[in-house]
Amino acid sequence: MPEEALGGHGDTLLAVLQGSRIGVLATDAAGTVAHANTALWSRTGFAADELIGLPLAELPIWRPSPLLGEQFGQALAKGESWQGQLELRHKDGHLMPSAADLLPIPLPLGGIGGIGGFLLLLHGAPMAEPPPTEALPAAFDRLTGLPGEPVFRKVLRDSVERARLTQQPLTIARVDIDQFKQLNEGLGTDGADGVLVEVAQRLSASIRREDMVARLNGDEFGLLMGEAASEPAPLDRILAAISKPMTVAGHPLAVTVSIGSASFPADGETADELISAADAAVADAKRKGRNQISHARPSSCADRGFGRRQILAGLRQAIDSNELVLHYQPQLNLFSGEIVGAEALLRWAHPEQGLIPPMQFIPLAEESGLIIPISEWVLDRACAQAAAWRAAGLPPLRMAVNISARHFRFLDLIETVRGALQRSGLEPRHLEIELTESAMMHDVSAAMRVVDALKAIGLRISLDDFGTGHSSLAYLSRFDIDALKIDQSFVRDVTTNAVNASIVSATIAMAHKLGKSVIAEGVETAGQMHFLRGRECDEMQGFLFSPALPAAEFEARLARGDRLELQAARTRAGSNRLLIVDDEPNILSALRRLLRHEGYEIHTAASGTEALELLAIEPIQVVVSDQRMPGMSGTEFLGHVNSMYPQTVRIALSGYADLTAVTEAVNQGAIYRFLSKPWNDEDLKGALQAAFRHWRAKANPPEVQPADLETVDRAVSVHAAPHGAPSCGNR
Ligand code: C2E
Ligand code: MG
Ligand code: MG
Repeated sequence: MPEEALGGHGDTLLAVLQGSRIGVLATDAAGTVAHANTALWSRTGFAADELIGLPLAELPIWRPSPLLGEQFGQALAKGESWQGQLELRHKDGHLMPSAADLLPIPLPLGGIGGIGGFLLLLHGAPMAEPPPTEALPAAFDRLTGLPGEPVFRKVLRDSVERARLTQQPLTIARVDIDQFKQLNEGLGTDGADGVLVEVAQRLSASIRREDMVARLNGDEFGLLMGEAASEPAPLDRILAAISKPMTVAGHPLAVTVSIGSASFPADGETADELISAADAAVADAKRKGRNQISHARPSSCADRGFGRRQILAGLRQAIDSNELVLHYQPQLNLFSGEIVGAEALLRWAHPEQGLIPPMQFIPLAEESGLIIPISEWVLDRACAQAAAWRAAGLPPLRMAVNISARHFRFLDLIETVRGALQRSGLEPRHLEIELTESAMMHDVSAAMRVVDALKAIGLRISLDDFGTGHSSLAYLSRFDIDALKIDQSFVRDVTTNAVNASIVSATIAMAHKLGKSVIAEGVETAGQMHFLRGRECDEMQGFLFSPALPAAEFEARLARGDRLELQAARTRAGSNRLLIVDDEPNILSALRRLLRHEGYEIHTAASGTEALELLAIEPIQVVVSDQRMPGMSGTEFLGHVNSMYPQTVRIALSGYADLTAVTEAVNQGAIYRFLSKPWNDEDLKGALQAAFRHWRAKANPPEVQPADLETVDRAVSVHAAPHGAPSCGNR
C-alpha cells in the first residue's frame, strides 16, 4: 500500500487490519507469507508460526485442491487480483465456506511486490477467542514499514537457491547510516526515528520494483537486487539520493550512508556468506571515510571467475608458497621529524592477481580461521625483520603488528608472541601490538587479561582506528594501553571540519592526561601535519611522508636518515600575517598591490578549502574573505575559521547583495567586520590596521585553544559507550 494511500493514518489502518475478524495476510516478494493477523490464525486453529514463512499456495488452511492454487496463481502472476469462494480448512479438519480477495500489492513504502489477502468466513464458523499474545512475529518493522531481517534472510535464501538454478547473478548490499549514534544523541529518539523513516523512503524510492529493501537492525538496511542491478549504478543513485539535504523535525540535516555490496556467486555462495561479505564491505566503506560504496572484492577477481572458494584455497597455499609479504609504513615523531617506528602491513603477492591489499582477504581469513596461521607468520616475519635491522646497526625502531579481533581472543596469542620474540631475539620493548576497539570491547574482562599478559612480556600496545568504535576514553583508561591511533576518517578533514578538528584536539589532550601517547593515521597534507603538531600529537604516519614500502626501500630510507620536513612556520615572531581569500585572481592581485607597502606578510587562497589548509600551517592573524565563492561560501568559511582558530580576526569583503548572510554571520560572532565591494582603498587599509590592533589586544593564543577545551565534553560523549559505560563527559 503506498504511504500516501494511508493518508498519514498508517498506524490506525494497521490496527484496524490487525483487530478485524476478517483474516488478513500478506506475503513477501517470493510469495512467502510474512504477515497474518490474529483472526486468520486463531479462527483457523493454527498457530501464527504454522502459517508465517510458508509459500502462500502451501498454507495448511487451503482445502487441498490442485485447481485453487492454479487459479489464483495465474491471476496473480498476471498482476491481477483474484476474488472467489472457497473452503478453508480448520486445523481440526472441518471445512469453512469462505470468500477470498487476493491482490498483488506493493508493500508499505513500495519496493517489494507481495500478495495481500482478505479471507472472510461466511457461515459463523466457531470463533475461538484469540489468545492474549501481544504481537505477531515482527515480519515488518513498525517504524519504517519495511520488511524486517528475518524476512530479508528468508527471501535472500530463496533467491540464492533460484539464482543457483538459473545461473543468474544476484547482488545484495548493506546500507548503514553514517554516524547515526551522533544523530541520535543530537536529535533525540524522535528525531532519529525521523531520519530512519526518511532514509527508508529514499531507499524505497531509489530501487526498482522487483528489488527489495529491508530494515535489518538499528541503522542498517539491506538491499536485494536482481540481475540488471548487479552493476554499481543503482548503488551510486542510492548514495546520491540519501545525501541530498533532508529536514527532520525542522532541522536541516546532511545524512550520508556507507554501502557494502556483495554478489552471488563471486563473493559468497550462500545467504550467510553473502551477508558477511557485505558486512565486511560496509566496514571497508566506513574505514575509507564513509559516504561511499565498497564492493566485497575487486571486480577484476570476479571478472576472471575468481570465487571466494578460490581465494580461500589460494590463501591456504599462500603461506607455504611464500606469497605473503610485509610492507612497512614509517611512523614519525612529530617533534623531531625522525622515523621512530614501522607498521607491518600485509600484502598477498598473488601469482595471477598481483599484489592484493589486506582488506580484500583479511575479512575472509578472519571468517575462515585462516587468520591465525597468517597472523603467526606476520609476527614471526616482522620480529625477524626488526631484529635484522637492529643487527645491521640501523637507528632503533619500534615494529608495530596488527592483530585481528579473532586472533586476539585466541589464547595462544601470548605464546605466539613469546615464540616470535625468542626466535628473532628482538627485545620485547621494540615490538608493538595494534588492537582495535572491537577486539577489546567484545569481552572486556577477557580482553583485560590478554592485554595484561602481553604487557607483562614487556611490549607496547596501541589501539588502532581509534574513534570508529563505540568506546569512551574513560573506559579505555582501564586498559593498560600505551598509545591511541587516531583513525584516518578524523584526520582526513581535520583542517576543514571544525567538529573533527575538535574531536582530534580533545582526544589528544585527554589521552595525554591519561598518560597515553597519540599517533595520527593517514596524514596526507602538510596542513594536517601542522595542525596535529600544533595540538601536540606525538607521532604520525601517512602518505605525506610515505606509503607502506617493501623492506629494502624502507631500509634505504632509514639508513639515509630521511625525516619529516618540519617548516618552522610557527617560530617566526613579530610579523603581521594576513590571509586574503577570493576565487577571482584579479581581486587577489589588486589587493596584493594595494597592501604591498603596509608591512604585512600576505598569504592568498582561491577557495575556502585551500585557505583552511593554509591556516593549519601558517599562524595567520587576520583573514579577509570574499562571500561568493564556489564550493564553500565566505560566511561558511569564516564560520569554520571562527570555531577552529577563534583568535583570528575575520573580515568579510562582499557585495551588498550578500548582506543578509553576512549580517547573520556578524551577529553570530563569526565575523568582526564587513567591508563592501568595490572597496575604498583608504578605508580598507584603515580597517586592516584596526584589525591587527584588535588582534594584538586579544590575549596570545594558548597552545590548546579554548574552543578545544569547550568541546572536550562533546567529543567524549561522541565516543561514549552505548550502555551504561562510564564516560568522562559526566564528570
Ligand atoms: P590499519 O592498521 O589501520 O592500517 C592503515 C591503513 O591505512 C593501511 O592500509 C595503510 O596503507 C593505509 N594508509 C596509511 N597512510 C595512509 C594515507 O595517508 N592515506 C590513505 N588513504 N591510506 C593510508 P592497508 O595496508 O591496506 O591495510 C588496511 C588494513 O588491513 C589495516 O588497517 C589493518 O586493519 C589490516 N591489516 C594489514 N595488515 C594486517 C595484518 O598483518 N594482520 C591483520 N590482522 N590485519 C592487517
Ligand atoms: Mg594498524
Ligand atoms: Mg588504523
